[in-house]
Amino acid sequence: RKYSKRMLWNEGNFQESMPKRKLNSHKGDHGRGLVIGGSTEMPGSIAMSVKAALKAGSGLITAATTEKVIQMIAPVSMESTFLALSEKNGYLANHTFPVDSYDAIAIGIGMGRYEETRDLVRYVLEQAKCPVIIDADGLYHIKSDLSMIKKRSDPTIVTPHPGEMAMLLDISVPELLKEPFRYAAEFAGKYNVYVVLKGKYTIITAPDGRQAVNTTGNPGLAKGGSGDVLTGISLAMAMQDQSIFEALCNACFIHGKSADLLVANEHSFYDLLASDVIKGITDVYRTFS
Ligand code: AMP
Ligand code: MG
Repeated sequence: RKYSKRMLWNEGNFQESMPKRKLNSHKGDHGRGLVIGGSTEMPGSIAMSVKAALKAGSGLITAATTEKVIQMIAPVSMESTFLALSEKNGYLANHTFPVDSYDAIAIGIGMGRYEETRDLVRYVLEQAKCPVIIDADGLYHIKSDLSMIKKRSDPTIVTPHPGEMAMLLDISVPELLKEPFRYAAEFAGKYNVYVVLKGKYTIITAPDGRQAVNTTGNPGLAKGGSGDVLTGISLAMAMQDQSIFEALCNACFIHGKSADLLVANEHSFYDLLASDVIKGITDVYRTFS
C-alpha cells in the first residue's frame, strides 16, 4: 500500500491493513516473541507487556527476566513461557543466550538503569536478526551509545514518551514539542529507526520519513503501565504479516481504541487501568476487524 508522506491513521487504515487470520493457522504463524525486562522493583510492567502481546494476537511469548521476577509474575502470566537471565542486585546483568529463535523482541521495560544491564541491551541489539522494540529504561541505556541502534540492519523501533525523546535528543521537552514532527523525522533518518513518539497525538515515523498521527486514545491512558501495554501490542503487530510502519500505526490504534471504547461504555478517564486496556483489546477486534 502507498501512503502520503504525512497522514492521520484512522479506522479505515486499520481495517484495510490489519492481516486477516487463516482458519487453519497455528501458533507458529502468529509470531514467537520475546520480552526482555523487569526488575525486583518493577515486576508488573513486563507482566503487562507479555499479556498485551498475547491478547493482541501473538502466537507465543517468552518473558526473559530475573529468577525472582519470574517467581513474582508467573502466577499472573499463565500463558507465557519464561527465560531466567543473570541478575545483580535485583537487576538484569550481562547474559549471552540464543536470540535467533524469535520473530521480534521488545527490550527495556521495567529493567532499571543499572550499568550492567546496558551490556545485555547491547548484546541483544547486536545479535538479534529480527525487529527489536526498545522502550522505557532500554531507551536510557542506548542513549550512552546510539551506535548500538545505528549499526543494526534489521528493523529497530524506539517508543519514547516526550521526556524520553527529549533525553535521546539532548533537548528540553518544550523544545521537542515545538516541532515534534521534525525532531522525530530527523532522529528516525539519522539512526535508521522507527520512532513512536507517544502523547495525546502519537506520531509514528519510519526511517524513510513517512509519518502518521494516531487518532485514538484519551487521558485515561495517562497512568502507569499504559506504555508497557503499547509495547506488548507493538510486539504482536510487528510479528503479523504487514509492514513495520503499518504494524506500529495499528498498535497505537488498537491501544487508543481500547481505551476509547472502555471510557465510552463502562469506565471513565479516572479509573481506567492499563490492565483494563489489555482486556479492552477484545472489543477493538470484535468491532473493527
Ligand atoms: P508511557 O508514558 O510510556 O506510560 O506511555 C503512555 C501511553 O499512554 C502512550 O501510548 C501515550 O500515547 C498514551 N497517553 C498518555 N496520555 C494520553 C492522553 N492524554 N491522551 C491520549 N493518550 C495518552
Ligand atoms: Mg513508558
